[in-house]
Amino acid sequence: MICNICSSSDSSPFLKSGTHELVKCSECGLVRTETFRQGETSYTGDQYFTLKNQYVRQWDDFVAMFSSLTAKIAGYKPPPARLLDVGTGIGALLAAAREAGYEVHGVEISPWAAAFACEEKQLDVIAGTVAGACLKSGEYDVIVINHVLEHVENPRELLAEVRRLLADEGLLVVGVPNVSSLMCALKKNRWASLRPEEHIWHFDPATLRRLLHESGFSEVYFEARENHVPQGWGFKDGIIRLINLIAILIGRGEAMISFCHKTPLDHR
Ligand SMILES: [Zn+2]
Repeated sequence: MICNICSSSDSSPFLKSGTHELVKCSECGLVRTETFRQGETSYTGDQYFTLKNQYVRQWDDFVAMFSSLTAKIAGYKPPPARLLDVGTGIGALLAAAREAGYEVHGVEISPWAAAFACEEKQLDVIAGTVAGACLKSGEYDVIVINHVLEHVENPRELLAEVRRLLADEGLLVVGVPNVSSLMCALKKNRWASLRPEEHIWHFDPATLRRLLHESGFSEVYFEARENHVPQGWGFKDGIIRLINLIAILIGRGEAMISFCHKTPLDHR
């Protein structure tokens, strides 16, 4: 397996998780699941969304979470604007963005999730990959790729396609887990966002920024925030809240979000 950022195949061991081995690229530091097997997790089966992630049951929580992300997006590219969500899932982000006044569109690889978004939530979601969706160049003012890059075989290729679709003055929003987070350092192979059976790439701020920069994007906003907020108020929940707080204060939160503009071609 070669690194998606620098094409090097040199690496050193990073973590072991079950039967999976994660390695760190010796050249650029991007962590990858060296033992990743294509097809181990099927995104196209019904069970990925209904049973495993239980997204439907948590619809309201997700819409509320995405409402705060949408409010941040509006600070950089306010509605009315055309927003494309790549990897829509069941459509919670699109629902929040529609509520905020955006014209919303989505692409989702799971036919079941795309159908749910279309039929149950009346959203415009194409089932399939973004490359296969034949979308027009420069059509979108905002493109969101939230917790998708770590799953795809070739993030660089996806970002090139997204750059084509984004309007010249548009805003790209990328969210990925942070493998250099305090929670990952503490929990190691038990970290909830490691998921080596699904995540091929494990970014940290430096590798995410390098990939975005080399893909023709310039960062305008970055944050590393918590990804798993405890629901209860017991002792264990209190400890997790404290870890989350410290992590955010030292810039080592679990989930990174980067807002970018397109770098003009002559500045790359
Ligand atoms: Zn590399």
